[in-house]
Amino acid sequence: MSETKSTILPVAKDINRVIYEHYESAEAPCVVVFCGVHGNEQAGLKAVARMKDALRAANFKGSLYILSGNIPAIRRGQRFIDKDLNRVWSRNLFSGPVLGGTKVSEHKDRRELLGIISDISNHVKGPLYFIDIHTTSAASIPFITIDDALINRRFTSVFPVPVVLGIEEYLRGALLSFINQLGFVSLGFEAGSHDAEQSVLNAESFLWLVLDVAGVLELPEGVGVAHRKRLADITRGYQNFYEVTFRYALKPDEGFKMFPGFQNFQSIEEGALLAESKGQTLVAPESTIIFMPLYQQQGEDGYFFVRKVPYPMLKLSALFRLMKLDSLLAALPGVEWIDSTKNGLRVDLKVARFMAKSVFHLLGYREVQEDKDHLLVYNRERESKKDRYPFRYSKH
Ligand SMILES: [Zn+2]
Repeated sequence: MSETKSTILPVAKDINRVIYEHYESAEAPCVVVFCGVHGNEQAGLKAVARMKDALRAANFKGSLYILSGNIPAIRRGQRFIDKDLNRVWSRNLFSGPVLGGTKVSEHKDRRELLGIISDISNHVKGPLYFIDIHTTSAASIPFITIDDALINRRFTSVFPVPVVLGIEEYLRGALLSFINQLGFVSLGFEAGSHDAEQSVLNAESFLWLVLDVAGVLELPEGVGVAHRKRLADITRGYQNFYEVTFRYALKPDEGFKMFPGFQNFQSIEEGALLAESKGQTLVAPESTIIFMPLYQQQGEDGYFFVRKVPYPMLKLSALFRLMKLDSLLAALPGVEWIDSTKNGLRVDLKVARFMAKSVFHLLGYREVQEDKDHLLVYNRERESKKDRYPFRYSKH
């Protein structure tokens, strides 16, 4: 039993789209925070409620917008109403007639968020950072997820939190991938498990650090240090880059049930019994690290595997990308640019079967589409607005 009284309040029912805004200038750095894109994940909303007084008194040097995600789902405390709001963002949303009618509840949230994202990204000329706060159904230390672009790596590398690369290849229509392909720094922060008070405190510490590192405000002496220490104490031993190697995708009505007791980032042995599906037991095919095991009803991902990315590999891939070595790929048989923008390659698998996924990853590509004979891979680096961001971030 804890003797300290909880200072975390329940989320109010009258939720506004814009929870907090401060505008400084078009040239100043700007942070945009999304809370409750999944309605049952309310740590971000609760963290922001705790931060409001201090934000009012803060000495701003940049702009800040805090937005709520799936408002009807937040009211009901469930992940989504009709469709997962984190799976409805396609590449061509700004150009195509795909905003949808009113039948799907999430289309309204998407339309409103898209309008705000569009206004901000058109107006702000300084560095722009998008932060999406989530929580997990399993017990977890806090962690960051990013599309593997160098601007994202650089920004996230200064936080004392594990960073997971490449999850977007397994998730279609994630909000952050949409923003990333607009060229901006974007990251997901998973604050911990859904109902843990600790997750609210983690989200709060992380947000203060983001605002400080991005240069939106300067934290009072000692405050940044304390938030950094809080997170570092929890994540000790896990402050690495990881990459996703496998996703167990759920089929409708397959009756998936994760066996109890798995924590995020837990090392598992080959042969470990993981879950039950259609009366079959799912077993770990190798010794690995389990990631985001599913312990809730709604969701499409049973579990993932991740592995640590060795530091020399991170350096090497950064170097290759800065040298734009991927231009050489287009000269190979069976590989060609998709169009004249040279943002993506079309790979004919009949001819270029030898091209391993890891080569594309190394050079900053991600796969987004695959028919029987062709793979389309898009380069995250060529889409990044690198010039808008400072090259180095400091850990103050
Ligand atoms: Zn979520």
